Amino acid sequence: MQTLVDIKNLNMYYRILSGSWSSKKEYIHALNNINLEIKKGEILGLVGESGCGKSTLGKAVLKLIEPQGIINFDGRNVLELKNQELKDFRKKSQMIFQNPYSSLDPRMTIYKILREPLVVHGIRDKNEINSRIHEIINLTGLNDEDLKRYPHEFSGGQRQRIAIARALILKPDFLVADEPVSALDVSIQAQIITLLKHLKEKLNLTILFISHDLGVVKYLCDRIAVMYLGDIVELSDAQALFENPKHPYTHALISAVPSIHKKESDTIKLEGELPSPKNPPSGCRFNTRCPYAQEVCKQKEPEITKISDSHYVRCVLYE
Ligand code: SF4
Repeated sequence: MQTLVDIKNLNMYYRILSGSWSSKKEYIHALNNINLEIKKGEILGLVGESGCGKSTLGKAVLKLIEPQGIINFDGRNVLELKNQELKDFRKKSQMIFQNPYSSLDPRMTIYKILREPLVVHGIRDKNEINSRIHEIINLTGLNDEDLKRYPHEFSGGQRQRIAIARALILKPDFLVADEPVSALDVSIQAQIITLLKHLKEKLNLTILFISHDLGVVKYLCDRIAVMYLGDIVELSDAQALFENPKHPYTHALISAVPSIHKKESDTIKLEGELPSPKNPPSGCRFNTRCPYAQEVCKQKEPEITKISDSHYVRCVLYE
């Protein structure tokens, strides 16, 4: 499989206000030297606890924030794009947000919401606009009558369908879906996940799917990257990750997924909270919560170890 997005040595620091009169600048190191490839046509899941840097990575890949490093998209470094090249990149890559309630303008009809990106990108021919809108609204399970209505007239699931339609109207190659079902009722989540799977096949999309829900990711994704405190700690085919997880953090996440076959004793409970990225632990960032931590884990950052051609882990137990 060809690579569509190639992330190299990506770091992101956020300046924070210290709240004191001191002139000392403080930073959060939200992404710690990330290296990751996203293959053409795959759905790559990005999982981890809230605050681990998943959304920051999603925004970085789309150049919605300004990280340091390299993000090659189809061979060009996105972080260096300007003007028309950046506009072209924006057309090819889109984002779906978590909250379909706040991501749609309440004053615009669905027709106007879908027309706007086309006009911004220079498509003015009315027949073309109408034919694209007709095509995408039907693909996302809505109908032409819905185009006259406003976002508040729809349920949460339908609004997320509209948000997906808006993301796809420019025929992008790449989507970043940031927790796209976590604000929805469980019964609706499955419908949106099935829709995304169908659209990915039909439109040959590549998707970075960000989620804290391993049950969803297991069903949807081809490969999964596990993130902890700004680091990718494990990367694998979805099936291998669930059957044979290596990193202690991945073990804990998987053991927390509810299952009728699971006993209470199978669950690995993580002690403590996610440490602050302002002051991350030295060495392995997971060492303060890891049941297998050794002295060396506090002293040195583990290397990435190759388990197989498609399975990598960052932990001294495998070095
Ligand atoms: Fe645990 Fe050490 Fe592995 Fe980190 S490197 S996950 S602390 S065993």
